[in-house]
Amino acid sequence: MAVYNKIQQKQMFVGKLDYDGDLLDQLTAICQKENISLGKVQAIGAVQKAKVGYYNQKTREYQLIEIDRNLEITNLCGNISLRDNKPMVHAHITLADKDGNAFGGHLVQGTIVFACEFIIHILAGPAYHRAHDENTGLPLWNI
Ligand code: ZN
Repeated sequence: MAVYNKIQQKQMFVGKLDYDGDLLDQLTAICQKENISLGKVQAIGAVQKAKVGYYNQKTREYQLIEIDRNLEITNLCGNISLRDNKPMVHAHITLADKDGNAFGGHLVQGTIVFACEFIIHILAGPAYHRAHDENTGLPLWNI
């Protein structure tokens, strides 16, 4: 059965990331600096190149996909929770090339910002912690 809590929205951070910086690293640094234990992130913009993961459910490993060209971020959507007691951003991203072809996946390090506007929503507790999940092999919410 689905497990969930009713949670209030607390505050938002709205800003832009640095040109040439790593997309995931920059979002993670903000969440760690602000000590966010539960939240939501969304962003749009453009990247110089991208790297995303595809979780292979059979091997239980991420296969990495590198897209070495300039792309639009048509959507970045993710959540913030705690892994090993530190804020962790789990985000998925959809990108489009000059012909409008879309690519996407689990955001990993290696996606380099051209321009990026983000909104981080902080949610009131309880803090969500990630723990190993036997069924999937993934570090899922332990709620
Ligand atoms: Zn993911």
